[in-house]
Amino acid sequence: MLIVKKFGGSSVANKERVYNVAERILEDYKKGHKVVVVLSAQGDTTDELVAKAKEISSNPSRREMDMLLTTGEQQSVALMAMALENLGYPAVSLNAFQVAMRTTSVYSNARLKRIDAERIDAELERRNIVLVTGFQGINKYDDITTLGRGGSDTTAVALAAALNADRCEIFTDVDGVYTADPRVVKDAKKMDEITYDEMLELASLGAKVLHNRSVELAKKYGVELVVRSSLTQAEGTIVREECKVEKMLVSGVAADKNVARIAVIGIKDEPGKAFELFSLLGKHNINVDIILQSIGRKGTKDISFTVPRDALEEAKRLLEENLGKLAAQRLEHDDHVSKVSVVGAGMASNPGVAALMFESLYDADINIKMISTSEIKISVLIDERDTERALNAIHEGFKDRF
Ligand code: ASP
Ligand code: MG
Repeated sequence: MLIVKKFGGSSVANKERVYNVAERILEDYKKGHKVVVVLSAQGDTTDELVAKAKEISSNPSRREMDMLLTTGEQQSVALMAMALENLGYPAVSLNAFQVAMRTTSVYSNARLKRIDAERIDAELERRNIVLVTGFQGINKYDDITTLGRGGSDTTAVALAAALNADRCEIFTDVDGVYTADPRVVKDAKKMDEITYDEMLELASLGAKVLHNRSVELAKKYGVELVVRSSLTQAEGTIVREECKVEKMLVSGVAADKNVARIAVIGIKDEPGKAFELFSLLGKHNINVDIILQSIGRKGTKDISFTVPRDALEEAKRLLEENLGKLAAQRLEHDDHVSKVSVVGAGMASNPGVAALMFESLYDADINIKMISTSEIKISVLIDERDTERALNAIHEGFKDRF
């Protein structure tokens, strides 16, 4: 069997953890399996490197940020190789160059395009344990890129697809995917399995277990994922196309605080204004999520929408500069909001999910500012201070439906 295992930063944070992971790797290696391991930077290394860069420059180039941040992963793989060698087993660490991990050219948020499996295959044939740096790639200029924060999951899934692995295990410090963040909602339950689509929604709605691009890739290439703990032998959660047990109504509740709301007030009520507004933001790569348009009055209307909070300043600046062109009167914004969502493949065929969610919020006296729905999720925008209460109230409201 060929197994790809990915360990997150907390799983390799210090010497004890490094040796703990080495043992986990050896469990499968000793059974005769081929093992490829993807590692993240140890503990808070990446954050510390970000802070270091900010000390030197308030506006470092993305190219140099990638050069700096990828050193964290390089440390991890080298240290793990040393640990395995010290235990008497053959291991080799490889970076993105050595495995030709080709990405798009954009720095800090590149997408993987192609991996050359040759080098890894050769090392596996020699019975080496192969340790690959997560998160990093190289672009067509032979520069180092990164896949975005949390991107090591994506490295692992891409490798599993490229190597046609029999198993892809994502190890972390929790023992699987929960119906809500177990640190916030005490009654949160671990799920045995979840579909790609549900996981994708949960990942992009703020559940931080998996990088959402990794789930997209897993779905595209049919890579079954297991999310499990590096600290226990618990089974974990399987992420796959279809779940074996009958669909529950909802699979999880998630919150995202990286949101801000912008309202453009008094836009001229005529065709093309929404197009102008959102293409302006799109051109600058600002993601817009929930959109609400008021009914027109006296020839004007208001359009409000949410953007990632870290894009608020740029969005405001762009809109201020173009208020005249948009024929709008003024802007309002609110960066003390959060988005709380319920996700479930079963809700498409079950009416009443929205009502139950709104009832739970009403019972907790939480006001809803905006609502958006899709086939398998309902999101509401609320006051940021209510986030934890909302998660608990909704989880409680749905407790018999998970
Ligand atoms: N070390 C990188 C980060 O902290 C990548 C990862 O952990 O997946 O974002
Ligand atoms: Mg991670």
